Amino acid sequence: MLTDLHIAVIGGDARQLEVIRKLIQLDAKTSLIGFDQLDHGFTGATKYQINELDFSDVDAIILPVPGTNHEGQVDTIFSNEKVILTEEMIKQTPEHCTIYSGISNDYLNELVKNTNRSLVQLFERDDVAIYNSIPTVEGTIMLVIQHTDFTIHGANISVLGLGRVGMSVARSFAALGANVKVGARKSEHLARITEMGLEPFHLSDLDKAISDSDICINTIPYPILNAGVLANIPTHALIIDLASKPGGTDFRYAEKRGIKAILAPGLPGIVAPKTAGKIVANVIVTLLQEAAEEREEKK
Ligand code: NAP
Repeated sequence: MLTDLHIAVIGGDARQLEVIRKLIQLDAKTSLIGFDQLDHGFTGATKYQINELDFSDVDAIILPVPGTNHEGQVDTIFSNEKVILTEEMIKQTPEHCTIYSGISNDYLNELVKNTNRSLVQLFERDDVAIYNSIPTVEGTIMLVIQHTDFTIHGANISVLGLGRVGMSVARSFAALGANVKVGARKSEHLARITEMGLEPFHLSDLDKAISDSDICINTIPYPILNAGVLANIPTHALIIDLASKPGGTDFRYAEKRGIKAILAPGLPGIVAPKTAGKIVANVIVTLLQEAAEEREEKK
């Protein structure tokens, strides 16, 4: 249980509703900022404007997946309030107050450095990334079906990268009957691809490897599908770029060659916000409980 903990949930989209639900269920004192237009009642939580909240007893602050923008503004799809998280606010919190966010940026990094508070980047965690790869794959399958006139079954698919997303993507498309090859640069990744029953290729051979691809799915956040490489892919091919913005594809050149290339960020929040919210909620709750137990032990 999270009884006696005061958690401020600041901004976010439908995913955050699962976090709020879980916090209330576990009896945390829950303050909501940026939710004034939310129809859902959430008895057990109190809505505030950011300037009304007393930060002095806030044990944890939960930000949405993107955190803040470079000016400290937090996205609030359930409010028109302009919510900006400032150093002054964080300085009022108890020293143990921890900020939870999906990812970070220079603004958030500076904020926690200058206020000597901890920041947990949930999406850096393996467990979150692996769970999140499940809705990511489903979203990718959806996009492939929408943007092709042939079946996945029997299609030649190249997956770039064998990280948390790449492995789930490769395995799922293979299970649907596609001929999947996977490109990586580490010998242990090439070994794993072979063990999975898929065709491995070294990324240094990418231009040759994709020359027969019907679909290319990139998970590498680096400009890997550059013009030189794209010159070798068939023009009927579909590219789905899952890597974080700006992706790894030269979209200008792809368009010039008439190749359909789609940058597809944030698929879990689009295709399965409830599941994506639960993934984040479960991890946050575990971390909050661990932190509270640690504080108790130190007392
Ligand atoms: P990950 O586990 O870190 O995997 C990244 C992969 O890219 C690894 O195989 C890594 O290989 C490879 N890589 C990185 N830099 C490279 C380079 N310069 N050259 C060659 N290979 C390189 O990351 P992940 O969790 O799978 O996520 C992959 C990307 O998808 C991230 O950008 C993430 O933000 C994004 N993502 C998107 C969605 C969506 O909805 N579109 C959802 C979840 C995640 P090495 O081990 O050799 O470095």
